[in-house]
Amino acid sequence: MADRRNIPDEVDTAVIGGGVTGLSLSWMLAEQGVDVVVLDDGRHAGSTANAGSLHVQMQSRFIRLYPEAAPAVEAALPVYVMAVREWFRLADRIGRPVGLDASGGLMVAETDEQLSFLAAKCDREKVLGLDVEMLDRTDLDRAAPYLGPAVIGAELCHHEGKVNPLLANQAIRAAAIEAGARCLDNVTVDALTRTGGSWEISAGSKTFCAGRVVIAAGARSGSLVEPLGIKLPMRSEPLHMNITAPAEPFIGHLVQHADRMITLKQLGSGNVVIGGGWPSRLTDIDQPLHVLRESLVGNVSLSAHVVPAIGGLDVIRTWAGVNPSLDGLCVLGEAPDHAGLYFAIGGDAGYTLGPLVARLTADIMTGVPTEIDLVPYAVARFEGNF
Ligand SMILES: Cc1cc2nc3c(=O)[nH]c(=O)nc-3n(C[C@H](O)[C@H](O)[C@H](O)COP(=O)(O)OP(=O)(O)OC[C@H]3O[C@@H](n4cnc5c(N)ncnc54)[C@H](O)[C@@H]3O)c2cc1C
Repeated sequence: MADRRNIPDEVDTAVIGGGVTGLSLSWMLAEQGVDVVVLDDGRHAGSTANAGSLHVQMQSRFIRLYPEAAPAVEAALPVYVMAVREWFRLADRIGRPVGLDASGGLMVAETDEQLSFLAAKCDREKVLGLDVEMLDRTDLDRAAPYLGPAVIGAELCHHEGKVNPLLANQAIRAAAIEAGARCLDNVTVDALTRTGGSWEISAGSKTFCAGRVVIAAGARSGSLVEPLGIKLPMRSEPLHMNITAPAEPFIGHLVQHADRMITLKQLGSGNVVIGGGWPSRLTDIDQPLHVLRESLVGNVSLSAHVVPAIGGLDVIRTWAGVNPSLDGLCVLGEAPDHAGLYFAIGGDAGYTLGPLVARLTADIMTGVPTEIDLVPYAVARFEGNF
């Protein structure tokens, strides 16, 4: 049932997209007394499909898939350290459980070649200020005895961890509403038009005005601003996820692989969440996704190879989601030549970045100096813009 009847005629700030970023931003703005509405159409949200990994070290998956973008993402890794810190700040302030912990992330190797790749990566990440170290098999027997015999070593990133998206999304939304934000569901924003000093927002048969608009629409952000002549070369990656029945706690880390598509962790609830980039099928961004049997079997089999005890657990649910991705970097700030139009879009691992992207955007919008230089994240970096 659409919330269209509740759309106001006029609002100070309209946030388009009620994922982790849009909701966190609405909460932060509402807390500062800003009159804010968040509009969400409930389709293809990364926030409701993601794995809850808090990523900090460079993901080998990203290097394999997008080598041309890897150097820029690597340079931005300190931002991910800030992003985990922001999750802790959020968890402290929100007063509801979000399932957050940062007990470290292991990227495991099975061959000498993979180990050398990790050692070189570890050295570069130390230079960037990350708290990372290499562990050999003896270290792993002590720190991560759950790993299978094929693993010969790993890079440990102490910043990494996990959050439970099912808890966190609810908690952030409740906090936003408590602070005074209005969250309107099942409302699709069709068009944005600059008229006079404000933005006219068309949502179905309803049109209303906002002084400021924030684009936090994940994978569909690009199509919202294209009619304004702004290019956001969004990629929509259809991905696959599995989750097991709860088990006694036995996996302490976020676990990834140096060369294979696997990411897994055990939530506080005991369930093991398994993903890592296996594909689902997306025919059209406006259509539902299809789970692929090969991904289900391949992903679960690989997880049991890396952590054999997973082989004894039942998979209770499997799902697909769209990962919004651009050139690996966030898009932040006000669009030049479009006063009052702001972007709040995470880069790679956008759930990790969500609360930080929100805080930086809230700072920009309320005139607080930001903790980082925003130039690399400006929308102007895309060819053909401005
Ligand atoms: C399977 C999977 C696993 C992932 N795992 C991780 C992980 O472990 N760690 C990590 O850091 N990241 C992960 N990601 C990436 C992460 O989920 C996303 O980057 C992140 O959730 C993006 O958050 P967001 O709030 O920016 O966008 P979203 O959560 O996508 O929210 C955008 C919202 O905008 C709405 N919207 C779009 N267009 C309109 C419109 N025109 N009108 C109204 N509403 C609109 C959508 O319905 C959606 O609800 C994963 C992604 C997937 C798919």
